[in-house]
Amino acid sequence: KRRDKNRWSLFVESMDAKYSARQRLKADLREAIRGETMGIVYQPMFEPTGTRIVGAEALSRWNHPDLGPISPAVYIPLAEELGIISDLTHGMINKAARDCATWPDHLFVSVNLSAHDVRSREIVSVVADTLDRHNLDAKRLHLEITESALMDDLASVRTILQELRSMGVTMAIDDFGTGYSSLSYLDMLPINKVKIDRAFVMNITEDERKLKLLRGVVHLSRELGLDIVVEGVETEAQLKLIQDNNCADLIQGFIFGMPMPNSALVELMNKLGNGPYRRQPVSMASH
Ligand code: C2E
Ligand code: MG
Ligand code: MG
Ligand code: MG
Repeated sequence: KRRDKNRWSLFVESMDAKYSARQRLKADLREAIRGETMGIVYQPMFEPTGTRIVGAEALSRWNHPDLGPISPAVYIPLAEELGIISDLTHGMINKAARDCATWPDHLFVSVNLSAHDVRSREIVSVVADTLDRHNLDAKRLHLEITESALMDDLASVRTILQELRSMGVTMAIDDFGTGYSSLSYLDMLPINKVKIDRAFVMNITEDERKLKLLRGVVHLSRELGLDIVVEGVETEAQLKLIQDNNCADLIQGFIFGMPMPNSALVELMNKLGNGPYRRQPVSMASH
């Protein structure tokens, strides 16, 4: 009995420790977002041949002073829970527009929105002001939103996306194929682009049915006039299948480039120029 009691109190103590670690992380995140110390990296999107960069996705980074880098998979949900995700989003849009304005004119930057961002009209004026501030053409800004984020209140989300579209911003569905009722959303919302989730790519070299699935999703998207980004391409074998089956307008994956700081992206852009780009083998360890 007594031992059980000790065990119980140990359990409670460790729960307490976990709870306070989480509270601490939340407080630190709030501070990092407020103090604008969150980082930003860019992952290039390429033509399927890998010769040219067409645009890049902005991804946020949090380097915690004591704990080191924390995954977005951990802190994005925390920021949502804390109700401060829009502060992060607005900071990301600002930095992304600022950096994109220094890139060659034909390149776009793509920023992730979370569900909360498209629940309020504030995003419309934030985007307009930011484009204005950096004198960036609206067609160079792309915004990514996941299917699950669209579920909440379709009618009002639709109105907000339409306002963004009418400014000239490109709207993309992110992680396409992992949510629900995806097909009907494609038709109901002002979307120009789909980013097909890497789940569709993962086993295409081992499983013929996976390739069929990818080809089907691509075919459907093309029929609807959407641009197709295939995400998460890692190996030469995957790349070849995607090329041979004409499955992508753009490719984003470790095979062509990891997320990197703006300075490295600019260096890569300069190196590629308009000439052919010779792909270097990328090391997974550097990610
Ligand atoms: P996402 O928007 O789908 O971004 C692509 C993620 O896939 C990135 O992970 C990227 O590093 C990873 N990735 C790209 N190519 C490959 C590949 O070939 N193989 C593999 N295994 N992974 C690849 P990251 O940066 O860890 O971000 C994860 C997710 O966190 C993002 O998925 C996005 O949903 C979210 N996120 C990141 N930054 C932001 C942000 O600023 N705002 C919001 N709302 N969400 C963000
Ligand atoms: Mg994304
Ligand atoms: Mg994605
Ligand atoms: Mg994803």
